[in-house]
Amino acid sequence: LFMLYLVATPIGNLEDMTFRAVRVLKEVDLIACEDTRHSRKLLQHYGISTRLTSFFEHNERDKGEKLLVELRAGKDIALISDAGTPAISDPGYRLVRRCHEAGIGVSIVPGPQAAVSSLAVSGLPTDRFAFEGFLPARSGARRDRLTALLSEERTLVFYESPHRLAATLADLAGLCPQREVVVVRELTKLHEEICRGSAGELAERWRAEKVRGEVVLLLAPAEPVEPELDLDTVLRAALEAGEPM
Ligand code: SAM
Repeated sequence: LFMLYLVATPIGNLEDMTFRAVRVLKEVDLIACEDTRHSRKLLQHYGISTRLTSFFEHNERDKGEKLLVELRAGKDIALISDAGTPAISDPGYRLVRRCHEAGIGVSIVPGPQAAVSSLAVSGLPTDRFAFEGFLPARSGARRDRLTALLSEERTLVFYESPHRLAATLADLAGLCPQREVVVVRELTKLHEEICRGSAGELAERWRAEKVRGEVVLLLAPAEPVEPELDLDTVLRAALEAGEPM
């Protein structure tokens, strides 16, 4: 049965490979990855010698069609990204969609995923959350997006580049200085850090200090808004319900 396998790979710690990930990567005919030089190191570590081909943001469409041809011809292909779960803020979504349309099987070999791992260790409510991916890079658009999200009642998870974290925290400090924020840095690596505080406090810390490594930013949910009750509304509701005054 030919198949596209989405195989998760480590987000830092090389030990975070599942037995199944190693087996599938050994057994498939071809591995599509973002950066062949980067992935070769991981594959060498696990003695995987499967052929590699590059599949990244800017050749996603054309290369996807080529991979589809190979899948149709009966090849098994694994898709990996530089780190974590493919197709999540990484190339893959269109190829998965094309496979479904073409009746080609798609399977997942689950494993590391930065957003959900960060949420789990953040200490913020996990019952409802929304993944927002990367915020816009331009400051005006970023502030607009954050403003639109301020009343969100689910925990918000953002990917952020280390160069922009300080600016984003400064935006949050301006919009909601008291809101609880968590910055999860270098997960599963030597300098793993979970940094909690108010938006104002974290903005202050990274105003003075350079951000190193990879980061996920999480924002606590907004307090639910109580509907405003004025006397008229209460009286009208009571009348409608036929309650004695
Ligand atoms: N597909 C990946 C996944 O499933 O986790 C995410 C890829 S996205 C291009 C890269 C972003 O993930 C980084 O900018 C950072 O926000 C986050 N990230 C990846 N590895 C991380 C780590 N070890 N610690 C903290 N954040 C990480």
